[in-house]
Formats: sequence, C-alpha cells, structure tokens
Amino acid sequence: MNALTDLTLAEARAALVKRDVSAVELTQSFLTAIEALNPRLNAYITVTPEQALAQAHAAEAALARGEARPLTGIPLAIKDLFCTAGIRTTAASRILGNFVPPYESTVTANLLRDGAVFLGKANLDEFAMGSSNANSAFGGVENPWHREGEPDTALVPGGSSGGSAAAVAARLALGATATDTGGSIRQPAAFCGIAGIKPTYGRVSRFGIVAFASSLDQAGPVARTVEDCAILLGSMAGFDARDSTSADLPVPDFAAACARGVKGLRIGIPKEYRLDGMATEIEALWQQGIAWLRDAGATTVEISLPHTKYALPTYYIVAPAEASSNLARYDGVRFGLREEGEDLKDLYERTRRAGFGEEVRRRILIGTYVLSAGYYDAYYLKAQRVRALIKRDFDEAWGKVDAILTPATPSAAFGRDEKQNDPVAMYLNDVFTVTANLAGIPGLSVPAGLDAKGLPLGLQVLGRPFDEETVFAVGHAIERAARFTATPSLRAAA
Ligand code: GLN
Repeated sequence: MNALTDLTLAEARAALVKRDVSAVELTQSFLTAIEALNPRLNAYITVTPEQALAQAHAAEAALARGEARPLTGIPLAIKDLFCTAGIRTTAASRILGNFVPPYESTVTANLLRDGAVFLGKANLDEFAMGSSNANSAFGGVENPWHREGEPDTALVPGGSSGGSAAAVAARLALGATATDTGGSIRQPAAFCGIAGIKPTYGRVSRFGIVAFASSLDQAGPVARTVEDCAILLGSMAGFDARDSTSADLPVPDFAAACARGVKGLRIGIPKEYRLDGMATEIEALWQQGIAWLRDAGATTVEISLPHTKYALPTYYIVAPAEASSNLARYDGVRFGLREEGEDLKDLYERTRRAGFGEEVRRRILIGTYVLSAGYYDAYYLKAQRVRALIKRDFDEAWGKVDAILTPATPSAAFGRDEKQNDPVAMYLNDVFTVTANLAGIPGLSVPAGLDAKGLPLGLQVLGRPFDEETVFAVGHAIERAARFTATPSLRAAA
C-alpha cells in the first residue's frame, strides 16, 4: 500500500476533493513522519503540530462543504525566512532566534488564503547565505540521499533552502516555499532529487521575506514534480502593492502550461556552461536532455552567453553589497537578540558579534568593503555594468531561442565535511544558477538522472522574463522522458 506521504501534491489534492483521504489524516501522516525523521535530518527548525492540525480541521470542514480552494488541506513546509504571524521566524540566525513576527509574508498569506496547512518552518543557511545548509545557527541538515553503500556518510542537502528540499525529498511535506538569490532553490532541489523554480524577478512578492540581496531575491516553490511546483507557484505569485518591485501582471495557469509540450520550441544550448573538469556524468546528462527534447519535437541551437564567466565574481560583489546594507537593521534595538552594552555603540557591536555567524560576517565585510569610498567605482559600479552585460547576453539569446537548457549544478551532493573550509570552492556551486538572478529570468531545476554513486542530478531550464509557462512545458517534457523514480534512502515509511 502507498503511504499518504508518497502522494504527489496533485494526487493528494484529487484524493482530498474526492474525500478518499481526510485532510486531518493527511496532515497527521506528515506530522508522524516528521517526528520519526526530523531528529536526524534537522529539516525543520520549528514544527507547529497544533497549528497544522487546526488548519487541517478547517480544511476538512471546507472540503465537506464542497468549498475547496487550490491548496485546501495540502501540508507544506515554510522556509524559515518567510515571516509567519505569531510563529517564530529565525532566518536560521541567532540574531533573530527569538523573533516572532506580528505579520504574515504575502507568499504565506496567499498560501493560507488558498487553504494550505503549514507543518512548520524549514531550516536554511543563515540569512540564506550558503550552498550546503551548514551555515545555520540551528545546525546543518542531512540530505536524505546517500551514496550507494555509504549509508553513514552524511551529505549536504544544498543550500540555502536545504531544509525545504530535504523535507520534500524525505516526504516530510508535499511541497515547500524557498527563496533563490543565486541558486538557493535550484541547487538544493538538484541535490535532493526534486523540482524547484525560481520565477522571474517581480513575479512573487518579497513582502515579509527576510531580505538577503533585494535586487536578486525571489521566492518560489520546491516539490517532487514539475506540475506540483506549477500549482504552488500559481498560489504564491501575484501583484502586491507592498513590494515596489512586484510586477502588475496576471498570474497564468502554470499547471496547464506543463502539458503544452515542446513541439516547435527552439532550445538554446550555451557553450559557456561546459566547464573544464566538470563530472562526465553531468555532461552526459546534459546531452541526454538535449536528445529527450529533440525526441519530443523541439529543435536545439548552440548559443553563446559570452559574459557567463564573469557571473560568479559579479554576484559575489552585488549580493554581499546589498546584504551588508540590508543587515544593518539588526542592531539589537528593533528586532530579536540584544546584548546590553556600556553605550549604544557597544550594544550594537556586542549584539552583532553575538548574533551573526561566520559566513554572514564575511559577507558583511565584503559588502562594506566594495561599497566603501574609493572602492565603490572599482568593484560595485563595475559589477553593476557587468551585470547589465550578462542580462544583455540573454536578451540577445531570446531572439534565437524560446528556452535554454543547462546542467543545474557542477556536481552532485557532497559530504558534510567537504568544502566547508574553502569559501571559494563553496561559491562555485552557484556557477550555473547565478546568471538567472543577475538577469532576473526564471529558472527551473528538474531531477533528471543519477550519478555513478546513485545520487540525483538535475537539469536547469531558463526562460524569458515572465515566461514561466514555457519553462514549465520544457521541464515537464524532461521529467516525462527522464522517468525519475529513484527515492532517497531516508524517507517516510511507505
Ligand atoms: N549559494 C549562494 C550564496 O551563498 C546563493 C544563496 C541564495 O540563493 N540564497 O549566496
């Protein structure tokens, strides 16, 4: 028999509406699974069983009245970067360790409006800075996947949305919210064998999401299938007057777009995404993806995105610069932690020293440096110029192609002890993902295969601004061809 936790979101929704499954029973199965597995995985920082069951009961009543909304009774994990009214929101930082927001983020409010059940707050890298979830003040997250024959070697789930991705992969939620500043949705999705989309900048409101780098941050969903991501994005997205960068555009039917197929689409293959020393399996999977899309009726075109090689250094100037400015608000006066001092300056310094972890401090130092008088032109302004060139590369590509296919990450999930002492090696994880944030375009990661050790690998689909529909159609075609059915070694019992 299939456990309820093994249903996809779309299947669970259909079963709830037909009243084959009760919303309370469904939520209870996830809470039981969380109780069993979270002590090891540490995917959730906070579990909210009472709230979840109350929401499930309300969902059950709505279903009984025949008043189902798009997500009525669907249990989700919420990245602990989204403010949730009355529920502690930590950003995985000591400095917000006791912060209980008085208001709800727009994304979570939209999900609640549509009937979702919140199981709890998912772990992440502190302030979403990282690629391994090792930078959480609440401890790392274990990837539910393991290399074949190495069940005791803990691997990272990727980051920063490592808790969201691990929870979904291990069947501790049907889907989760996540955020992506340089790859934090797509890289953990790829490492955990699930799907995740970073929408176009402006598609989803940033109101009530703890800010990292405001010109790059975008929220999106992770889920086990492309269609499930499409359903979730449909609820999360939409214009919001409280976010000045929110796009006033209608929200298309993303789920319907999945089934469009790729016949006649032109798919760009950017030659700059072929890296020296990249694992042969990743190159092979990319070629396989090209073949799948051709078989499904698309044509593929080699394209060039010549400024790609500058994307990583550009990102690691722009993102820390914005972060250093955004994080100035954590001073011990208004939010969270306060360490008393002899005078105001001493209070600031003690609070920030005690509250911020090592990686966050590194980013603040880099950001303050590149913004300082004398260096601003050399670093920050230069990076902004290069960013414009990276965006122009894509603008030119859209004249020739409808979507772009690349690998999602340069490697599969790595061990917890690897790369932790080498920040630059860690930053390389984002080499295929940061361009989409710099250019503001949508990017989807789809699980597409396994490496020689049995670990999941993802392919990435990039699209035109506000054309998530084509991205979903291409992603869905890859998913169908890949028939990715492998499951992680740690997951809720089937
Ligand atoms: N890994 C990248 C970083 O550390 C991206 C993080 C993100 O997308 N939030 O900045």
